[in-house]
Amino acid sequence: MTDSLLPTTSQKDTSEKTIINDIANNDAIIVQMRVFIDALKTHNNAYYVLDNPILEDSEYDQLRRSLMELEEAYPDLMQPDSPINQVGDTPLSAFTQVTHDIQMLSLGNVFEYDDLRDFMRRVNDRLSVAQQNPEYEMELKLDGLAVSLKYVHGKFVQAVTRGDGQTGEDITQNAKTIRNLPLWLAAAADIELLEVRGEVLMPKAGFERLNRLAQENEDKTFANPRNAAAGSLRQLDPAVAASRPLAFYGYSINQGLPDTIDTQSGALAWLKDIGFTVSAVEVVQNPREAQAYYESVIEARAELPFEIDGTVIKVNSLALQQQLGFLSREPRWATAYKFPAETVMTRLQSIEWQVGRTGQITPVGKLEPVKVGGVTVSNVTLHNFGEIQRLDVRAGDMVSVHRAGDVIPKVTRVWHDQRPADSEPVILPSTCPVCDSPVVLPEDEALARCTGGLFCPAQQQEALIHFVSRRAMDIDGLGERWLIGFFNHGLVKTVADIYQLHNHQDELITLEKLGEKSVQNIIAAIEASKHTTLSRFIYALGIRGVGETTAQNLAQQFGDLDILMAADIEALLLTPDVGAITAELAYKFFRAPHNIEVITALREAGVYWDKVEQKAPSDLPLDGQTWVITGALASMARDEAKAKLQALGAKVSGSISAKTTALLAGEKAGSKLTKAEKLGVKIVAEEEFLAMVGE
Ligand code: NAD
Repeated sequence: MTDSLLPTTSQKDTSEKTIINDIANNDAIIVQMRVFIDALKTHNNAYYVLDNPILEDSEYDQLRRSLMELEEAYPDLMQPDSPINQVGDTPLSAFTQVTHDIQMLSLGNVFEYDDLRDFMRRVNDRLSVAQQNPEYEMELKLDGLAVSLKYVHGKFVQAVTRGDGQTGEDITQNAKTIRNLPLWLAAAADIELLEVRGEVLMPKAGFERLNRLAQENEDKTFANPRNAAAGSLRQLDPAVAASRPLAFYGYSINQGLPDTIDTQSGALAWLKDIGFTVSAVEVVQNPREAQAYYESVIEARAELPFEIDGTVIKVNSLALQQQLGFLSREPRWATAYKFPAETVMTRLQSIEWQVGRTGQITPVGKLEPVKVGGVTVSNVTLHNFGEIQRLDVRAGDMVSVHRAGDVIPKVTRVWHDQRPADSEPVILPSTCPVCDSPVVLPEDEALARCTGGLFCPAQQQEALIHFVSRRAMDIDGLGERWLIGFFNHGLVKTVADIYQLHNHQDELITLEKLGEKSVQNIIAAIEASKHTTLSRFIYALGIRGVGETTAQNLAQQFGDLDILMAADIEALLLTPDVGAITAELAYKFFRAPHNIEVITALREAGVYWDKVEQKAPSDLPLDGQTWVITGALASMARDEAKAKLQALGAKVSGSISAKTTALLAGEKAGSKLTKAEKLGVKIVAEEEFLAMVGE
């Protein structure tokens, strides 16, 4: 954004013409600086004062960096009201304003290992030889808001927000409602004045509950837990603040530190001893150890009950901290080592409708490509028409895209106030975008479907792709591109035609311009796939509602394809995890003449499987066990996990009791997890579960 305004070599030239150019150029730079300054002021106010940001943090940070670069390149042109060195924003006048005894500053930040080493190098530069390479202490960077608490002879007397660093808001009454904030510290009764600083935050589960309630009551929702915590703490009515799930985590003692404590890690240990909650602490000796801690926190991040946006690294010795001091708005002895942004804003350029294997019509958002969570994202699933309505999203909207870990990116927010004036509401297509058959949206279903069935080329193609996929017939030599090519040339219409391709080798060579060797490889891969398992074969048929686990269960239950094909609905219902809908879909599937024809052709072509070893229920590893599932699983839907457990012989129940064998706990597990912990029920994390089921 600022490239064109950064200095060029010609500026060093002092000819008269250049001076005139420089004056013109300086004006342009000042205009640009003013644009950034005004924007930053608006965003600071929205974020710090109104707790209602108008931009994602990553966009704000970019804006801030743009102004910083410009100021670094043109220090002489720096504007007196630049917010670059300012902390927060002017506090709300609705609260009594309190001047901090000691300023409350911000933190610098680094994003990469090299920058972390630079930070450590800068620390070394300011230390004597004997002091070089000091010990560091690392903590979680809690994503809430900074608060200073004062205790007089152990009694809590005041809580003040950071505000603009000099002056904050007196939020004592609201702070008293924070459940884990100690109001009396017996161990500090002898200390005249103790000032503890820390972060007030809202745990993820509480944030989601609050936003759900707000949505139900059609109230304003909060953009993220940080804004929710800030908004709650700065409620004028303490009763409202009391109803909000807030927590306080201490991270420093700024007045009244006992003489015996000389390190940051010691200070936090003492805070913990006297009754505060503090974040996880690690003492590290060098950049490598710091990096290892940072990476371990990234791993643990999803399981933490609250949001963090990185780690903080601090020189451990309090004497060295004192010696290093501050540089404008940040300490020289500490910095935030932040995570890459997981939520960024971009424009939703268009919405396309895709037709799936079983005719489901799903909307896919085409994005202006954007880097999020470390990878570039240009498509995002919008799931179904109901989701489009829930989000109230349109083509042309600015949206926030969130991607955490390996989770599929999703739209978490639509910035309605930035909607282009000419945008149009999204309409569910009335006909299939591929075959023009009517689209239906059954009343009790979220997904619209094309009614074209196997007449619809999209569904035919998807059925073929599914059939050859790794977990189905696993014909890895027959890539999707070739398969679609063969389909388009009419060589393959149904899955049974794949096993006739060896009769068309010349056409494969001429039509698809395949080399003879490639054709031979494809034919060999097809031949090899003929030997399969019954469960893979059932899964490969692509019966609606029959995923991999259900296919395994059906193979186990019936042991033989002919028996399965002849089974009535009652018999199908005896299969673990097969409910009324799936039983009916499977029953109908095996009665459709077209399907019977394809299955017969596949068997005649030589597809076969080994005899299924049917296990008696008591042979199954989880026989007799009762499991409960809670929270969101990253790798699969809960139903899928349920089916996997059932396939291993477990019963899956909806509630925890003393009889429960184990709780499978995903992300954001709530009351069931607490109850399981209380009852001493074994808790199994998703990773352990995946290992157990062999994935
Ligand atoms: P910051 O949040 O990046 O870092 C400083 C703060 O970290 C401290 O004040 C403290 O509250 C906190 N902190 C958390 N854990 C800590 C620990 N263990 N030890 C010490 N401090 C800890 O800085 P900031 O100045 O408060 O705010 C900048 C952030 O706010 C940026 O991420 C920026 O994107 C965001 N912001 C966004 C907008 C917007 O419009 N979206 C506007 C303004 C600011």
